[in-house]
Amino acid sequence: MYDIVIIGAGTAGLTAAVYGARAGKSVLLLEENVYGGQILSAAEVENYPGIRRISGYEFAENLYRQALDLGAELKYEKALKIEEDGIGKTVHTNRGHHSGRTVILATGAKNRRLGLEREKELTGSGISYCATCDGAFYRGKDTAVVGGGNTALEDTLFLSGYCSRIYLIHRRDRFRGEETMVRILQEKENVTILLESEIIRLNGDKHLESVLVKNTNSGKIQEFPVSALFIAVGQEPDNRGFSDLVQLDEQGYVVSAENCHTGRKGFFSAGDCRTKEVRQLTTAASDGAVAALAACAYINTSDSVS
Ligand code: NAP
Repeated sequence: MYDIVIIGAGTAGLTAAVYGARAGKSVLLLEENVYGGQILSAAEVENYPGIRRISGYEFAENLYRQALDLGAELKYEKALKIEEDGIGKTVHTNRGHHSGRTVILATGAKNRRLGLEREKELTGSGISYCATCDGAFYRGKDTAVVGGGNTALEDTLFLSGYCSRIYLIHRRDRFRGEETMVRILQEKENVTILLESEIIRLNGDKHLESVLVKNTNSGKIQEFPVSALFIAVGQEPDNRGFSDLVQLDEQGYVVSAENCHTGRKGFFSAGDCRTKEVRQLTTAASDGAVAALAACAYINTSDSVS
């Protein structure tokens, strides 16, 4: 039985592994895709304290190596459900099962879909959720970004270095993301900002060819020929498999206290999968540390009691 089983090897999960392993606990990380989580798609990180500039990939790679060097194990398995049996918890995965004295849910959040017809079909053929991963394929082409948060703004800035024209499409009359970034984009000659605008159709046979955009104020509909649409409309958690064990809020995020405890003995949550105000790299790392230390304290207390 592991002391700590961590579900999700993004920044929160990997940081929890570093703290758990450094505290002398046996740690298993379960990851369904690739380690690193969302930061992998950040071209550059410039707001992590103490690191002036680093690529998202290098950050993730460093954190992964650090966790493994300290003794954490990582298995590529998708956690499906968890059962409690006495002091232990059994995590059932697509490949088997693992026991832990504590579980840290660090499942992160996934890209939200726009929900348009043909969105799924055209994903990889003009539709992308990661400008830093796929932007370079559209060098010299006209593209669009949809969303109004920092991701959409950063994606647009990134693409402005490659693409001929970028239409930044946002549903409201003001952006959610940082004002400074909005001002930088307003100065860019190859960026066209379309506010109060919604994409109503994706056109193209085998590859995206254009998007149909409706101005929600005037009702006017315009077609914009683009080779790619980068969707940056936020993230959604996926904690449904654990809803019988821990409380989820109405959006599906895990409810947990300041110390990341879920209210259920031995269950903690960390990072973007939990209810919180600010979802940043720093807060994910911070949660990972807090959750792991709380898990260690729980294990140490149960040791002294049993
Ligand atoms: P976000 O802040 O949640 O913004 C999502 C945007 O998508 C919002 O503008 C929202 O519109 C729009 N949206 C949501 N659903 C939509 C739909 N169905 N159709 C059209 N538009 C839709 O998400 P994010 O930009 O990915 O950022 C997530 C978090 O990471 C934020 O806290 C952000 O600050 C942070 N972040 C930080 C950095 C950085 O510090 N360098 C970089 C990237 C992200 P409304 O505004 O109308 O709700």
